[in-house]
Amino acid sequence: MRVTDYIDQANGQTLISFEVLPPLKGGSMQAIFDTLDPLMEFKPPFIDVTYHREEYVYKKRASGYYEKASIRKRPGTVGICAAIMHRYGVDAVPHMLCGGFTKPETENALIDLGFLDVQNVLALRGDARKFEGKFIPEDDGHHYASELVGQIAGMNRGEYMDDLTDQCNKTNFCIGVAGYPEKHFEAANMEIDLRYIKKKVEAGADYIVTQMFFDNDKYFAYVEACRAAGINVPIVPGLKPLTKLYQLNSIPRLFHIDMPDDLVKAISEAKNAAARTRVGIEWCIAQSKELKERGAPILHYYTMGDSSTIQAIAKEVY
Ligand code: FAD
Repeated sequence: MRVTDYIDQANGQTLISFEVLPPLKGGSMQAIFDTLDPLMEFKPPFIDVTYHREEYVYKKRASGYYEKASIRKRPGTVGICAAIMHRYGVDAVPHMLCGGFTKPETENALIDLGFLDVQNVLALRGDARKFEGKFIPEDDGHHYASELVGQIAGMNRGEYMDDLTDQCNKTNFCIGVAGYPEKHFEAANMEIDLRYIKKKVEAGADYIVTQMFFDNDKYFAYVEACRAAGINVPIVPGLKPLTKLYQLNSIPRLFHIDMPDDLVKAISEAKNAAARTRVGIEWCIAQSKELKERGAPILHYYTMGDSSTIQAIAKEVY
């Protein structure tokens, strides 16, 4: 079923969903099941699976020299989606990127997903690869997520690139896109970022999932700004409990977001690892309860392979 249909049918009740990462290449599917099994009691209608394109790495050769190689560290998004749907009977939402795909490759990937009965996709641009200063699309690929959304929406109308028949089947993908309550780091300001979010919605996006944030006011202000800009699709908050000291530094650096002073202080002053985890869980519970009370359509938790903290949070909130 489509994510937006789940939201409509919930009649104002806040749903729950999760995001998982494919294991590192060579890892087992069991790692995904180990993450998700304890979370299924909360009855998520859908689970997102991230997509990871190839990255440049330096590999040491037998000769002792290092050689630049391009590898995909976390392949398997589509297979994991199929396995999740098969095991749990819930919808899986694969993430799709502009990066690494030509338009015909995107079309073929969407045909595969349609045949697997995948009904939702999260359409993203992807980041610049290591050693590349900025995002570089494939020669015949999309530059921005709005263009990818446009291609998916076109297939939903039966428009394929080089249709062999007069009548191509219409796909029926519900299209999600990313939103940034603290602005996408490349956008010069929030107004410009909102302009491009709106472009994604005008191209056919049905809902928005936000980057993680630790200050709910940022989410509420973002929703208000979107509505004022005429963006009226559901805006799903993305949440991640912070549990480790190093995350005070790594999360702002990697995700371009701020940490509230009170959270930084509480995590820094916690006496040991268990106390830090407790602080992170309590913070996320408070965030979740407020978002739920104020009518967020879904609480979307980034698991990053850790189900125990998410489980502790969901038990308090649902
Ligand atoms: P876009 O919407 O294309 O925006 C990118 C930048 O370009 C923004 O600054 C925007 O303001 C600007 N822009 C947009 N359109 C135009 C235009 N026409 N002209 C000029 N500027 C424009 N990454 C992965 O690799 N795999 C994943 O699975 C993944 N999942 C994610 C899930 C969520 C919920 C979120 C929030 C992010 C995820 N990402 C993932 C990261 C994402 O790929 C990066 O944040 C990326 O830098 C931007 O992607 P986007 O789809 O928001 O890009």
